[in-house]
Amino acid sequence: MDLLGDGSNPFVLRQRRLRDLLLDRGIPVLLVTNPFNICYLTGFRGSAGIAAFDAEESRLWVDPRYTLQAREQARGVKVIEEKKRLSEAAAFWLRKKTRRVGYEDSHLTCAVLSQFKRAADGKLRFKPAGGIVEELRSVKDSGEIDAIRQAGHLTAQVLRDVLQELRPGVRECDLAAEIEYRMRRAGAEGAAFETIVASGSRAALPHARASTKAVTAGELVIFDLGAILAGYASDMTRTVFIGKPSRRARGLYRAVLESQQHAIESVREGIACGDVDAAARGSLKRSGLGQYFTHSTGHGVGLEIHEKPRIGRGEKTVLQTGNIVTVEPGIYIEGYGGVRIEDSVLVHSEGPEILTPLAKDEWLID
Ligand code: ZN
Ligand code: ZN
Repeated sequence: MDLLGDGSNPFVLRQRRLRDLLLDRGIPVLLVTNPFNICYLTGFRGSAGIAAFDAEESRLWVDPRYTLQAREQARGVKVIEEKKRLSEAAAFWLRKKTRRVGYEDSHLTCAVLSQFKRAADGKLRFKPAGGIVEELRSVKDSGEIDAIRQAGHLTAQVLRDVLQELRPGVRECDLAAEIEYRMRRAGAEGAAFETIVASGSRAALPHARASTKAVTAGELVIFDLGAILAGYASDMTRTVFIGKPSRRARGLYRAVLESQQHAIESVREGIACGDVDAAARGSLKRSGLGQYFTHSTGHGVGLEIHEKPRIGRGEKTVLQTGNIVTVEPGIYIEGYGGVRIEDSVLVHSEGPEILTPLAKDEWLID
């Protein structure tokens, strides 16, 4: 189905925004090879395919495994089944169209670029033009916002249920499995990334994998999880304490919660990402814990779990309505453990909306 020209279709609108950007930057044709970018621009969710966009036309080359799926899913683009190499077919079309082609240098491998160059036989010049579609993707439209909000609410509900049943003696890997099983039972396509359950001193590793260690009384436990729904990811973290928390655990938790609250309150249209990071970092510094916060404050979430914009130190990018970013300060103390609290947050002109709503003050498990 060719809906080119149908202005109400989100994919056609996205392609139109892409064309404006290409015109602005003097790129006659953009070759798109990142599957997430192809999905964003056309709706095709297959793992292999090459798309190209110029001022008038949108094309998607797929091999026979994906023809039916592409015809069913793709919008605003001409689907072409190609039995030989996709790069050769695309290069053949490009040679008739232009002499200069932008390609996604952050994604295309050197091997595939040489295939393109060989097929172009010296008739095309390939210019790095990565990051353009990612820039468009950082501002979500209403359909995307709905999908991420639903993914976020589903994720929060699953964690709420699992925490209610959490008892000492359960292994981290069983908790992670239970979380991912419940996500799927609730309608998710799967987990957006490998669920993290890290207890005790293992919680000092920001990216710990769930292990066979059992959670025990007197420990902090970090849960970091996200579900995929309609292709879109959510991302959240909660830290709980098993049993009656010590003064130290209570103090660390309060400090991270305060830091996260400061950062979330700062999220609004027009603020630089670096200033949101500074709100989180400054708060932990005032609590005397600045040296334990070893990563950036957050990242964009969408079709991928890590997208633009990055909420990090000194980042100049300014937040816009429609950005969805995580706010996730954490502290990690070797030999003791860690605390991280994370929400996915929508940027509105009126202020932030938390898309992963789950209490942060009730964090004791008896
Ligand atoms: Zn996370
Ligand atoms: Zn995250």
